[in-house]
Amino acid sequence: MDTASSKYRIHKCFKCPGDTEYHCVSCPCDLCPQCKENHVKDLQTIDHDVVSHRDKINYIPTQEICVRHPSHVYIKYCEPCGLPVCFHCRKHKTHKQLDVRTVYKTKQQQHRGTIHTIRSEALFYRPVLLPRMKTDFKTCHTEFSLYQSEMLTKAQTLKNLINKLRKDFMKNVFCDFDFKHRCLKQMIEMSRHIVSLQEYELRYVQPEFTFSALQFLSSIKTALPQIHLTLHTSQLSMTESLNKEDVMESLSAIQITERGNRRVGNQCLLKLTSGAEFHQSLTVTGVDRCYHISCVTSDRVWVSDRDNLMLTDTTGVPLHRVEDSCSDLYGLHTVNSESELIYIDRKRNINKLSKDMKTTTTFIERTDSTWEPRCVYWSLSTGDLLVGMDNYDTWTGKVTRYNQSGQLTQTIQNHITGRGLYREPNYITENNNGDVVVSDSFSAVVVTERGGRHRFSYTGPPSGSVLRPRGICTDALSHILVCDDRTKTVQMIDMDGQFLSHLLIRPSGIFSPQSLSYDVNTHRLSVGSEHNNTVVIYRYITRQDALTDLNPATADVMGVTE
Ligand SMILES: [Zn+2]
Ligand SMILES: [Zn+2]
Ligand SMILES: [Zn+2]
Ligand SMILES: [Zn+2]
Repeated sequence: MDTASSKYRIHKCFKCPGDTEYHCVSCPCDLCPQCKENHVKDLQTIDHDVVSHRDKINYIPTQEICVRHPSHVYIKYCEPCGLPVCFHCRKHKTHKQLDVRTVYKTKQQQHRGTIHTIRSEALFYRPVLLPRMKTDFKTCHTEFSLYQSEMLTKAQTLKNLINKLRKDFMKNVFCDFDFKHRCLKQMIEMSRHIVSLQEYELRYVQPEFTFSALQFLSSIKTALPQIHLTLHTSQLSMTESLNKEDVMESLSAIQITERGNRRVGNQCLLKLTSGAEFHQSLTVTGVDRCYHISCVTSDRVWVSDRDNLMLTDTTGVPLHRVEDSCSDLYGLHTVNSESELIYIDRKRNINKLSKDMKTTTTFIERTDSTWEPRCVYWSLSTGDLLVGMDNYDTWTGKVTRYNQSGQLTQTIQNHITGRGLYREPNYITENNNGDVVVSDSFSAVVVTERGGRHRFSYTGPPSGSVLRPRGICTDALSHILVCDDRTKTVQMIDMDGQFLSHLLIRPSGIFSPQSLSYDVNTHRLSVGSEHNNTVVIYRYITRQDALTDLNPATADVMGVTE
C-alpha cells in the first residue's frame, strides 16, 4: 500500500461509513468506491467531476527508473517517439521533449471524457448486456451446430459435383483420341475424292484427236463422284453436368447477416419521471432573450437572442460571442460531435467555428438568392447537416440535407400531391428513427420520414387550441418536445404525433418557454425564456429502477445463478 492511500484512509465516505477513495470536485464530497459508482450513474450527478484522491492531491506515483539507464529516473517525455526518457537517453536528445508531469496531466485531461463515459454509461449498461450475451451465446451454440451440419451436407454435394465434373472431363479427353482418328479417316477419304475429281477433269480437257467424241459423251454420263464429310468437333459437355446456379446455391446459402455493435435501447434503460423536476437555473449574460439553445457539454451552452450568439458556462458567465451571426432568426445554430458551432451568418452562409473558437470557416456558401437558410441541425446519427430554408417570394419552405463534406444530398419540399410541406421553418431537429422534425411558424410541427415522405403534422393537443410552435427537440425516448407560444407550455408528443402531456405550463422563472435543448449525455432539458435571459434546466427522464438497484456485485451474482 502506498503512502497516499494510507494517508487518506482516515477520511470517511460522505454517504456511508465506508472508507473514501474518491473525491467529487463538483459537490464537493468524499466517496467510497460503491457510492462513487452510484454518484457517476445518477442522472442528477452524472456530469460531476469525480477524481481519485491520488489525483486530488496531484500525486504522481514513484519516480520511475529508466529501463536503459537504471541509475536515472524519467524526467521528460519524447513527443515524436511517445516514450518517457531520462537525462541519459541520448537517442532522443534532438527530439521534441516535454516535462513528463505536464504530459501526464494533459493525457489524463484528454481521457477524462472517455473515463466519464465508461463510468456512467458502459459500466451501467453491463448488467443489461451481460445476460443478453449469455442468452445469445446459448442460441449461437445451437444455431451454429445446425449450420455446421448443413454446411457438411453442402460440402458433400459440392464434392459430388466436382467428381462428376472430373469424370466428364476425362471422358472428353479420351474422346479426343477418337476425334483424331475420325479426322484421319476423313483426310484419306478426301484425298481419294480429289484424285477422282482430277481424273474427271483430265478427261474433260483431253485433246480431241486422242479422244473420240463418243467416248467423251459416254464417260461424262458417269456421275460425278460425291463426298459427304461430317463436321465433328469435340466440345466439353461440362455445362450439362455442372449447373452454375447449383454451385452458387451450395456455396452461398448459409449467411449470417446480423452484424454491428451490441447496443442497449434507451427504452429499457430510461423512463419518464412523474413530472419535470427543476435541476438548475442560469441567467445568461450578453443576451436579453433565449431564442435558441445548443448544448456543447453539460456545462457549456450556446444561447442566442435576436442579435447575439453567446457561449456561456453553467453560472451564466459569457465565454465567447460570435460577431457575424444572422439577426432575426430562431434556430440558427447547432453543435456537432467535434464540439464545433455551426451557425448562419449575416450573409446567410453556414459557418463552422472551431472548438477553440479561433477559426471560422464557411461550411456551406449561399449560392441561391431565392432561398434563405433559417435554421440548422447537426445529426449525431448520420453526421449530416439539416437546414430549414424559406423563399420569401413564394412563401414556401424546404429542408435540405448536406453530408459531412458539405454536399447537398437531399431536398424535402412537397407532399406527394405537390403541395408544399413548409412555409417558414423556424427550428429543425431529428428524431432517433431518422424523422426530420420541423417547427414551422404557420403550419405546426411537420414531421417527415428520413426519405422525405410526410408522416404527420402536429397542430396541438386534441382538446386544445391550435399550436403556435416555437423551440423543438427530441429526447432519448424518441419523444418530440415543443414550445407553444399560445399556451406558454412545453408539450410532449410521441414519435408518431400522439399528444402525451404538458411537460411544463408557464414555468416559473421563464413563463413563456421559447427554446429547448436536450442533453443526450445527462438526459436533461434546457428551456429558454422568450422574454428574459433565463435558462432553466429540468430533469424528466430517469434510469430504470431495476438498473439503478443493481450494483456490479449483485449483477455478477445474478449472472452466476442464472
Ligand atoms: Zn459510501
Ligand atoms: Zn458530486
Ligand atoms: Zn535513459
Ligand atoms: Zn525520441
